[in-house]
Amino acid sequence: MTKTRKPLQKYRRVVIKIGSALLVDRKSGLKKAWLDAMCADIAGLKAKGVEVLVVSSGAIALGRTVLDLPAGALKLEESQAAAAVGQIALARAWSESLSTGQIIAGQVLLTLGDTEERRRYLNARATISQLLKLGAVPIINENDTVATTEIRYGDNDRLAARVATMVGADLLVLLSDIDGLYTAPPHLDPDARFLETIAEITPEIEAMAGGAASELSRGGMRTKIDAGKIATTAGCAMIIASGKPEHPLAAIESGARSSWFAPAGSPVTARKTWIAGQLLPAGTLTIDAGAETALRSGKSLLPAGVRQVTGSFSRGDTIAILGSSGREIARGLAGYDADEARQIAGKKSAEIAAILGYAGRAAMVHRDDLVMTGPAGARLDDGRDERKGELHA
Ligand code: GLU
Repeated sequence: MTKTRKPLQKYRRVVIKIGSALLVDRKSGLKKAWLDAMCADIAGLKAKGVEVLVVSSGAIALGRTVLDLPAGALKLEESQAAAAVGQIALARAWSESLSTGQIIAGQVLLTLGDTEERRRYLNARATISQLLKLGAVPIINENDTVATTEIRYGDNDRLAARVATMVGADLLVLLSDIDGLYTAPPHLDPDARFLETIAEITPEIEAMAGGAASELSRGGMRTKIDAGKIATTAGCAMIIASGKPEHPLAAIESGARSSWFAPAGSPVTARKTWIAGQLLPAGTLTIDAGAETALRSGKSLLPAGVRQVTGSFSRGDTIAILGSSGREIARGLAGYDADEARQIAGKKSAEIAAILGYAGRAAMVHRDDLVMTGPAGARLDDGRDERKGELHA
């Protein structure tokens, strides 16, 4: 369990969720000093080679302050309008504050379908991955301006967990006005005990999550435990900590009270398990011996190695990859629709743009979206993969 609590710089990719009450004061608006300190913490982590993503709440809270809307519950269209006003200010504040540490911010607004539908999921993931590759910090929020009551996450705890699993993060930090998980709501029960580490989210742990959200934010302990289930199942550790002190990440590092949830496995394994576990593949790609060797050594499947395409599938659908003997050797998510795959099969990646009329992805199936499913022999010699038959991403 001690392994769960390790220095933040030991993590590779960290998602930090920031609750509205930390960033916005209902009277005076944005808490700039807090934000600047937070950005200094982020710069510190990035300087140590950690990739950082931020899920920032506060659009509605900031918008209603700017618009001077009365306290109390807002109608849907009022909160949508408040989000429109607040989000633009929020994004600018993040961008300005990060820029003092020479860090570039990129705004990403997601709706529920962007993480739940595979095509859109792949698309959102590609954009966010590209931002990280370019060294930018994605500043993510729900697109509250168009989200309706039925089709929304509604809270950024679960949104942050979905983002963390989407990008294969190894740590999710939930910062709010709650410093962690107690055995009972501490303001109601004097015997409530603080839990420092949670090895597994059992039904008993779930029962400890009371309701109680503050006026500014939507999430309480319930949504944090839900987030914990999403994250830890996919191999991502999670911390619940108070964001109230300035420099909250530095505070965690120096031992401030926080609850740590242990991950269940490694993110890559969990995601590939998800791909391998998809229902019947929508089509097949038969590949040549050279491509088979490439796949077995952890590479992506390029169009040049594809001999035949069957079935009708869309980009993002699960497809089976057949070796030259005709037996299934892998499964993966299609990088192209079936029609496009037929057109570029056997062609060099450099020819794709001329054939399709647009610059597509280099890979027919990206290695991150690929799982070796058989036959035996798929294991890498250098032992990098944890599971038999699974390629290392
Ligand atoms: N997306 C909401 C906002 O930016 C926050 C949701 C939440 O607090 O969990 O205002």
